[in-house]
Amino acid sequence: MAHDHEHDHEHDHDHEHDEEAEERLRESEREYIRRQALTQIRQYPDVALRMPAREVTEFDQFLIQLVERLGELMHDAQGVGLAAPQLGVLQRVFVFEPDDEPMRAVVNPRLTLDGRGTEVDEEGCLSLRDVRVPVERATKVVLEGKDPNGDDVRYELEGMAARIVQHENDHLDGVLTIDRTDPDSRKQALGALRPHPTLV
Ligand SMILES: [Zn+2]
Repeated sequence: MAHDHEHDHEHDHDHEHDEEAEERLRESEREYIRRQALTQIRQYPDVALRMPAREVTEFDQFLIQLVERLGELMHDAQGVGLAAPQLGVLQRVFVFEPDDEPMRAVVNPRLTLDGRGTEVDEEGCLSLRDVRVPVERATKVVLEGKDPNGDDVRYELEGMAARIVQHENDHLDGVLTIDRTDPDSRKQALGALRPHPTLV
């Protein structure tokens, strides 16, 4: 899931000029790293994004490396969650990192919606370029599964964290935000995602 960039660009206008130049350089470096990471992440309409992922049966070195790669790309792409199918790996694994909390990886997740409260908010996705659409999600969930070592994990989550894991869990079933939004937003998003012919 993509981070909301609008809150990342508040500047203190009292900076010295060279500090501003340095900050601009750091920002362009981060942007370069973000774009590089996005080239490693499957983009709509890649078929891997539409296929259901399989349960993980082997808790091996491949899984550990997959989780490391997911975490690295999520950070580089400035996202808050990333699921294995987004790398073309059809295994039920995702990583997520709500603000100010350490990254967590969940294998073979099971989500239970806790209570009946829902909330509509805009969601971006690292596989849907700049598209952001309103999606209704449960405000509280219980997430159970395994960590990459095969040990049981259980998280009670709410708000943004609950939203992120519902988004990432959808990726394991080939479901995207454009499937869950209202018809008008979906139509607009599909228009934005249509490949534009390049005239050379
Ligand atoms: Zn996504």
